[in-house]
Amino acid sequence: MMISKTFEITVKSTRRKELIEITSQIERILKESGITNGILVLFIPHTTAGVTINEHADPSVKSDIEEQLTLLVPESKNYKHLEGNADAHIKSVLVGNSLTLLIENGRLLLGTWQGVFFAEFDGPRTRKVLVKILGE
Ligand code: ZN
Repeated sequence: MMISKTFEITVKSTRRKELIEITSQIERILKESGITNGILVLFIPHTTAGVTINEHADPSVKSDIEEQLTLLVPESKNYKHLEGNADAHIKSVLVGNSLTLLIENGRLLLGTWQGVFFAEFDGPRTRKVLVKILGE
C-alpha cells in the first residue's frame, strides 16, 4: 500500500552564500519513514535559496560553484528590487528549489560522487527544507 509522509529539515547557514550538504539528514529521515521503495521530493519554501545535487567528495567543487555563481550574478548591479538581495533571487532561479530522488531497497539512488546540497544565497538565516516521501 502506498504511504505518504512529510518531514521538515532545519538548516542554519552561517554565511551570505554557501552550499550546505544535507545528504545525511535526508537519509536519516528516509530511515525514520520506514518507506523502502518510492520517491522522495525535496522542496525549499524560500525565494533566496535553492537545492541541488553535485559532487561531495572534493570540497573545492562546492567553492567553485559558489564563486562562479557570484561571477554570473554579481551582488550589486542596477537591480530594480530594492531589498538589496536581487542577486539571491536570481541565483535561486538558476539553481532551482526542488528535487526528486529515487528510493530503492531503503536507500537513496545517488551516484557515488553525488551529495544533496542546500544552497544559501542570502544568509546567514535559519531555513526549512520540506521533504515528502511517497512509496511503500
Ligand atoms: Zn528580496
